[in-house]
Amino acid sequence: MEHIQNEKLSAYCNNQLPEEEQTIIDNHLTECESCFSLYLEAIDNCHIDHSVSESFTDKTMEELELSPLFNQESRPSSKKKNRIMAHYLLAAGLTLIFTFSGLFESVLHLSEQTDAVPKVSVSEQLMNKTTDFLDQIKEDNNK
Ligand SMILES: [Zn+2]
Repeated sequence: MEHIQNEKLSAYCNNQLPEEEQTIIDNHLTECESCFSLYLEAIDNCHIDHSVSESFTDKTMEELELSPLFNQESRPSSKKKNRIMAHYLLAAGLTLIFTFSGLFESVLHLSEQTDAVPKVSVSEQLMNKTTDFLDQIKEDNNK
């Protein structure tokens, strides 16, 4: 499948696309890392739009809450927000997992090394490992 265009992605996170297309993009985002990172950027832009029109959103929500029809059904806009939050959490969670597994591996590797070479100070090794690791993260972010 082809990559998703930027306009599509921002329309997607503003929920302006028909259900069908959203599903297609949903599926593509779970498989395509590059589109997913573009999508995260698009979310950031969406949030700027949301903050600008916050009073409008509040008014709309109030009206929805006043309407008995919408009280019976789950409110669509909060569902949409939950999905964006879920994607955010997914990305944040993955970052945390990578960060911790990286550090954990370093520490494990370090303790093996410490047994073999007891003369090198552990804190010094830990410092080096951490610096290397932080450099790596910086590099990744600069890509
Ligand atoms: Zn893609």
